[in-house]
Amino acid sequence: MWKGVCQWLPRRRSVPVELSRCILVDVTATTIDTLHAGPETGQSATDKRVLLLKPRGFCAGVVRAIDIVKIALDTFGAPIYVRKEIVHNSFVVNELAEKGAIFVEDIDQVPEGQRVIYSAHGVSPAVRQHSKDRKLKVIDATCPLVTKVHVEAVKFAKQGYSLVLIGHRDHDEIEGTLGEAPDVTQVVSTAEEVQSLEVPDPERVAYLTQTTLSLDEARDIIQALKIKFPKIVGPHSQDICYATENRQIAVKNVAHSADLVLVVGSTNSSNSNRLVEVSQNLSTRSYLIDNSAAINPAWLEGVSTVAVTAGASAPEVLVEDVVKYLHQKGFTSVEEVEVMPENVRFGLPPEIVQAISSAPAASPAAV
Ligand code: SF4
Repeated sequence: MWKGVCQWLPRRRSVPVELSRCILVDVTATTIDTLHAGPETGQSATDKRVLLLKPRGFCAGVVRAIDIVKIALDTFGAPIYVRKEIVHNSFVVNELAEKGAIFVEDIDQVPEGQRVIYSAHGVSPAVRQHSKDRKLKVIDATCPLVTKVHVEAVKFAKQGYSLVLIGHRDHDEIEGTLGEAPDVTQVVSTAEEVQSLEVPDPERVAYLTQTTLSLDEARDIIQALKIKFPKIVGPHSQDICYATENRQIAVKNVAHSADLVLVVGSTNSSNSNRLVEVSQNLSTRSYLIDNSAAINPAWLEGVSTVAVTAGASAPEVLVEDVVKYLHQKGFTSVEEVEVMPENVRFGLPPEIVQAISSAPAASPAAV
């Protein structure tokens, strides 16, 4: 089946593109299955449509982290301990828990000598040392793009810089990055907080950011830092990752064409929350939903176009569920809007590659 679908050129700036520039591409199986479902009795099927944003959902770091847990379970058998949520999505965590993963908040909860996986958000050196003290067998699922920020923090600290880490204090990623150089690092979350920063040498200050921030918010905070510390230096390339950026750009491109933007993701997912903010900042109503059950039918009143996207840790099955729900509410036209292609993949960490090759009953094909 063919359906009008937009495939927009890659762009680094969020200039809206008209729907008339759409070209025809093959509709996803998700869409086809949903169209077969039929609208709810009594619902009008006229003119109500869903814009399904692409890229959406899983990023390379999340795919890798989930693969690592699945491979570890297949290779070593349950239980496998995981420090914190492997990614910030309750569906993913529950699914892995059913397969035998045990999620813990602290390394102390892992029995001595057992195997533990660090989440995609990374850990501080103190957590690594604690694991060593407890003789744990560690598998590191930290996203390579988070590791990049850790390396930058260590480098700047060694060069004698005071560090300003832009991000959310209560986020697992910030806890890990802050731990690389806690004595010289301060966390700021808003441009206003920049005003109260004090450093020993204002001429030797560096900044880094969390990987999942709002591009606009980070830009404003960096601008405030540059005004306060004119000689401030930053990372070679921005720390906000490609997946966070691409999903925000997709929302920016489409929000003006929609009455409502639904973002599939869990409440503790930073990049998902930012997608809601991006839409709201463009004056398009937006809600973060774990799944279709979280949709309030009142949100759809008077709405003719709903844009649907998903945070980097939200699985496609939940998006399918939302599209199906909307179809039953009369949103029978589904257009996939591809703002840019995304083909990033990360390799597995050496400890799991080595474990697979040395395990007698390894079965990577099962992943
Ligand atoms: S959102 Fe970005 S930093 Fe986080 S896991 Fe995905 S690719 Fe890595």
